[in-house]
Amino acid sequence: MRFDIITIFPDFFAGPFDYGILKRARTTGLVEIATHDLRSFTHDRHRTVDDRPFGGGEGMVLKAQPIYDAMQSLNISPKGERDKSRETVILLSAQGQPFTQSLAQELSTTERVLILCGRYEGVDERVNELLCDREISIGDYVLSGGELAAAVIVDAVVRLLPGALGNPDSSRFESFGADEVADLPDSADGPPRSTYGSGGLLDYPHYTRPADFMGMMIPEALSGGNHEVIRRWRRRMALKKTLENRPDLLERIEITDEDREILAELRGFH
Ligand code: SAM
Repeated sequence: MRFDIITIFPDFFAGPFDYGILKRARTTGLVEIATHDLRSFTHDRHRTVDDRPFGGGEGMVLKAQPIYDAMQSLNISPKGERDKSRETVILLSAQGQPFTQSLAQELSTTERVLILCGRYEGVDERVNELLCDREISIGDYVLSGGELAAAVIVDAVVRLLPGALGNPDSSRFESFGADEVADLPDSADGPPRSTYGSGGLLDYPHYTRPADFMGMMIPEALSGGNHEVIRRWRRRMALKKTLENRPDLLERIEITDEDREILAELRGFH
């Protein structure tokens, strides 16, 4: 898989892509990430990438021409001829569609992803219309630029590439995990799965040694080695976290009769 990132701050990415899973994925050739300095595609002495907005108002807007030229240099197919399962162009924008785990999954099966980082008041809208397939936001807040958002997307996608994680199951049993994992059985020889299929829920809390930290003991359910007790506890805690922090997720997922019982208890209906 290859990412191309167009930005006015290419050096910004030296940090985020040089650690942990991302670094390993780059070193082993699982992913190639190229950053492109938008200013290299300007033709004036001041390397101007922005201009005042038509209609007046605050701030500056990234000009269309340097972005167009940058994309031409990258040999991305024209928008109309693009096979989006192979290559896609993303405009980062606070006005975009929300970035989710399922979008990360979808992008992880795409061979080439080009990401355009906005700055200032944003990007001339004709760039969006002419060149981009998706306008994506990483959350309901405004960043100073698209670079942090690009790093977030690359990180979330790369860890889903087969071979990126030490244990391939890790990404299947996390918060927001795919629905179908909810019913996956334990591996025959191992301990219980780390998450009892998130099935679209948030992950449950994790603990490691020591069992007693400043007088705070780990939950009893986790210490006895009884797989069924552990499974129930994890499912209950995943439901509790979700109920407390993201009750909206509960509207969107399929829950079992057992889940319904637990939720009623958690809501104090028992
Ligand atoms: N005027 C814009 C608005 O009100 O929606 C905000 C522009 S913001 C200061 C500059 C750039 O940061 C945007 O063009 C975009 O690339 C990036 N950006 C800001 N917030 C973002 C978000 N939530 N998700 C993705 N990119 C974002």
